[in-house]
Amino acid sequence: MKKIIAATRNAHKIKEIEAITKDFGMEIISRDDAGIPKIEIEEDGKTFEENSYKKAFGIMKLADEITIADDSGLVVDCLGGAPGIYSARFAAFPGIWPGEDAGNEDSSDQDNNSKLIRLISDTPYEERTARFVSVITMVYPDGETIVARGEVEGHLVLEERGYCGFGYDPLFVPVGYDKTFGELSSDIKNSISHRANALKALRVKLAEKENQVE
Ligand code: IMP
Repeated sequence: MKKIIAATRNAHKIKEIEAITKDFGMEIISRDDAGIPKIEIEEDGKTFEENSYKKAFGIMKLADEITIADDSGLVVDCLGGAPGIYSARFAAFPGIWPGEDAGNEDSSDQDNNSKLIRLISDTPYEERTARFVSVITMVYPDGETIVARGEVEGHLVLEERGYCGFGYDPLFVPVGYDKTFGELSSDIKNSISHRANALKALRVKLAEKENQVE
């Protein structure tokens, strides 16, 4: 088993990453369990890729171990792509796009979901299209970096449904289903989610890397 530090402190994300990576030879250790100091890494990048790299590199520097980070969020078409990279702190800002004013303070899932519902409530269901995006970055102590992106497409509903998952899950109905991620089992979410798709892409890249070494 290869020991890998997870840069996130989000217990839901760690659980999902563990569930998906357990069958490809990785043992995920949370940064707290690895005893990494509780410093905040500023997510001031302009893309999921930039923020994902910042988190992975920042924790790898402290741990000196292979580190994996996920930067993820919800991209809503009728809001011009918002909340996007600002998904965790959406409700903390007055406008749709926090833009340059973006601080680093997360807002509650409840507040984020209420703001989202308010902003999309006049848009008909078929135009309430959205996708979750996850960019997973793995950084090795020698600086080698592997980046993998995954997405899952869906529609948004106007009232929260279900108690599984976290974040915007109760509002998101993935394509091919009539239930939200909040209602679907974790097994189903973990087989089709953006994070699952990013980890599948990562697995392909890791296999390519192993083959290069041989
Ligand atoms: P990050 O921790 O900066 O990557 O922010 C991720 C934010 O995006 C979370 O706080 C959620 O609001 C949202 N998000 C990411 N992945 C998911 C998911 O799987 N379900 C629901 N919301 C998610």
